[in-house]
Amino acid sequence: MSAEVPPLTVLGASLDGEAVGLRCEQGRIAALGPEVVAEPGDTTIDAGGAPLVAALVNGHTHAAMTLFRGYGGDLPLMRWLREKIWPVEAGLEPEDVYWGARLACVEMIRTGTTRFWDMYWHPEATARAVRDSGLGATVGGPLFDAEGGTQEMQATALENLDALAPYSETGVAPALAPHSIYTVSRDLLRWTAETATERGVPVQIHLSETEQEVEDCFEAHGVRPAHYLDQVGLLGERTVLAHGVWLDRGELELIAERGATVVANPVANMKLAVGGVLPYPAAREAGVAVGLGTDGAGSNDSLDLLADLKFFALTQRHASGDPTVLPAREAWAVATGGASALLGGGPRLEAGSPADFLLLRRDSHELGLGDLHSDLVYAASGSIVDTTVAGGRVLMRGGEVEGAGEVVAAAAERARRLGLA
Ligand SMILES: [Zn+2]
Repeated sequence: MSAEVPPLTVLGASLDGEAVGLRCEQGRIAALGPEVVAEPGDTTIDAGGAPLVAALVNGHTHAAMTLFRGYGGDLPLMRWLREKIWPVEAGLEPEDVYWGARLACVEMIRTGTTRFWDMYWHPEATARAVRDSGLGATVGGPLFDAEGGTQEMQATALENLDALAPYSETGVAPALAPHSIYTVSRDLLRWTAETATERGVPVQIHLSETEQEVEDCFEAHGVRPAHYLDQVGLLGERTVLAHGVWLDRGELELIAERGATVVANPVANMKLAVGGVLPYPAAREAGVAVGLGTDGAGSNDSLDLLADLKFFALTQRHASGDPTVLPAREAWAVATGGASALLGGGPRLEAGSPADFLLLRRDSHELGLGDLHSDLVYAASGSIVDTTVAGGRVLMRGGEVEGAGEVVAAAAERARRLGLA
């Protein structure tokens, strides 16, 4: 899709206190700096002094679960899944997933996220929604075989990979997504590792979300979850581990050695009361790549990653008893994918990087005169975003996302069909 986007030039933006221009071509930043000017034929935006920042990367979500927002939220994790979520998911149709994911994309565009990692049923419907929204994503259908059906699951996974392949041209990358070590057999986990290597696709999995999971893993396999995942060949540079709340030092060192990324989901962890958060200081010390995610709207219930960034920073300070443990600029780097090569890589705003960026509202009282990163982490939420650009395409300007009203109405209709509204 990015190849068809006309060149875009943003003039008069503020970057680290300096007035800059930014020119995008073919979905990438072609030039950035005070000397940048528009060329004939460019779409031009006058930023009027608005702060320019990199867009956010949501490292773990289930986009279509916007349909489940506000549904059965007052239950513990396993009862919530068994009694509320799984029975409804059994009747999901691709169009439900499409409109749920479209709604999620509107919310992410509004709140400054341009790329996300998704695990959900009917992944092709999510890929279609991402394409139609103009965002980027890595998408995988969940693998489950807790009650048998391993071979059928393998066949479905291969069908999903084939169905997702054409979307790579539009910024949607396929992934394999075994749900967790407690819902997927050892055989299927091994198969996933082999298939991911053969196909060259990344893997996303929930890991060490609850203490019970660690105890059960130890009882069943004699090792803790990260070591078990390594035994089945699933810990590698292209693996995203969602949660990681109960990882111990030995597991963090192993994860760092293998180069996997751990994505913290502090708000979902607190909502489901799992009793902890990712031990970020130990993860950083071990050299683990880290990202930030919202998890699905069923367990958060918001997809506003900028709001969750405050929770990430606060929970880390609070849990460590150390207010210096996570400087604001470092927290911001985690939320923009800058602390994981797999999620986003190094600095996001430079020539050659994907043209994924935000202009912030100049009239916003959340941005004071002090440090911008501190304001972004502790004072702001997604409402501070004025303009969202993904792959050089303007998806929101002046806080307005084109077609948002229709998406909200269609998603509500699908939720009613499922008995969720
Ligand atoms: Zn999740």
